[in-house]
Amino acid sequence: MKNNIDKKSRVSGDVYDAVIVGGGASGLAAAIELGIEAPEFRVAILEKNDELGCKIRATGSGRCNIANVDAEGYKDIMSFFGKIGLVTRAYDNGLVYPYSESAADVTALLDRKAIELGIEIITGAEVRSVQKREDIFEIEYIYGAGKTTHNGNVCSSNVILATGGKAGPTFGTTGDGYKISRELGHTIVTAVPVLTSVECREWQSTGTLDARTLGGTRMRGRISLYKDITGLFEEDTKIFEEMGEIQFTKYGLSGICVFNMTRFMRYNKSAGETLEQFRIKIDLFSDGHIEDHLSERRKSELSGEKISDVLCTVLKENIAEYVIKYAEEQIAGSIFTSGRPVSTLTDEEIASISDAVHQLTFCPIGIRGWKDAQATAGGVSVEEVDLSTFESRLCTGLYITGELLDRDYPCGGYNLSNAWLTGILSARDISKNASL
Ligand SMILES: Cc1cc2nc3c(=O)[nH]c(=O)nc-3n(C[C@H](O)[C@H](O)[C@H](O)COP(=O)(O)OP(=O)(O)OC[C@H]3O[C@@H](n4cnc5c(N)ncnc54)[C@H](O)[C@@H]3O)c2cc1C
Repeated sequence: MKNNIDKKSRVSGDVYDAVIVGGGASGLAAAIELGIEAPEFRVAILEKNDELGCKIRATGSGRCNIANVDAEGYKDIMSFFGKIGLVTRAYDNGLVYPYSESAADVTALLDRKAIELGIEIITGAEVRSVQKREDIFEIEYIYGAGKTTHNGNVCSSNVILATGGKAGPTFGTTGDGYKISRELGHTIVTAVPVLTSVECREWQSTGTLDARTLGGTRMRGRISLYKDITGLFEEDTKIFEEMGEIQFTKYGLSGICVFNMTRFMRYNKSAGETLEQFRIKIDLFSDGHIEDHLSERRKSELSGEKISDVLCTVLKENIAEYVIKYAEEQIAGSIFTSGRPVSTLTDEEIASISDAVHQLTFCPIGIRGWKDAQATAGGVSVEEVDLSTFESRLCTGLYITGELLDRDYPCGGYNLSNAWLTGILSARDISKNASL
């Protein structure tokens, strides 16, 4: 996409009714809503990338899980997309996608609508500061590359800060909005990466139980997270549970349910807290009881079958092998591996295998960082904005939207919903004030 603003006007100090900082999901929704509701307004988007909506293109693995039927403001979001002509499809699980299942199509549509509505788009412009002088905001930015960087500035009665958080920095989201908001008086709740994978100690093993053998396998299971400083990790310390596809990677655990779990793995490093207070337990056979399965086999005419073969009727082969080694470690002197038949299993050994299948435990040692994360937890304190308009309570005319706010959600279209909705509501408020 080309700038629809003459490069010379970048330094003009032009005056706008609204300037949107950040042309991502929230900024584009705000711009379009403003273009529709207040066509007489002069509106600009300042975007630091050379194109708008870079991150949107990568969402939903290129399919763009645009919303969720259970997301806050779902009706408003759908009415917005209806107005601009996007056809969507909601699946039984509540996930909503563009009918074309193409994130690139969504970005292209938003881009085109913004231009059609006369929004002035200034790309390659990195906003460095926003200051309020009396009733007007002065927005300073740089453009150009390397030694040929230039300064530009514009003025505006309203500013929508929609710079996103820090997740996926390659898309331009490097936390710039935190500094800008702080300078305008806002409090920033420490930002941490969420919706990302988890590294576990079991992958660093030097013993016989080496979780690297699980790498590359996916399996449906129930994942639970326990938080307990006493180290007991009993049932009452469970803080998260979700059923889903677990991906065993070359460093630990991944998959949607693991991503969602990371939202609950917040800890205070500066207060000396570590990930040691968490344990992850996976139930690999949540639809049944492996104890019953093995006990029945032990009595049946199939009792001559190898333990590993019986486990392979429920688990993938490498997972079954890992489970056997894990169970072995629980009971001193037990060896399951040398082709032992099920008939020889003691009750204690069956209980140990059951523990391994239903409560396979992992110790998290790291949460993958910003490059891998799909969202940011933390950001501008929500107590400092009006949650019906997203206007700052500290600075009239300043709106803070999208992932820049301390609002994060699980996978499933909720984070984009938050971006669209906060953008739309801020634009409505600005246009409402205009028509007074
Ligand atoms: C790989 C990936 C896949 C995802 N998939 C989904 C999904 O399918 N469904 C879902 O609901 N959520 C998904 N998300 C999360 C979702 O994309 C974000 O929550 C959402 O895009 C946030 O919208 P935003 O407008 O607040 O920020 P962004 O969309 O990140 O946009 C912020 C924009 O501001 C610009 N900017 C930053 N600083 C400046 C500055 N100083 N000056 C000018 N411009 C600036 C950035 O370049 C960027 O274009 C995904 C995230 C990632 C990383």
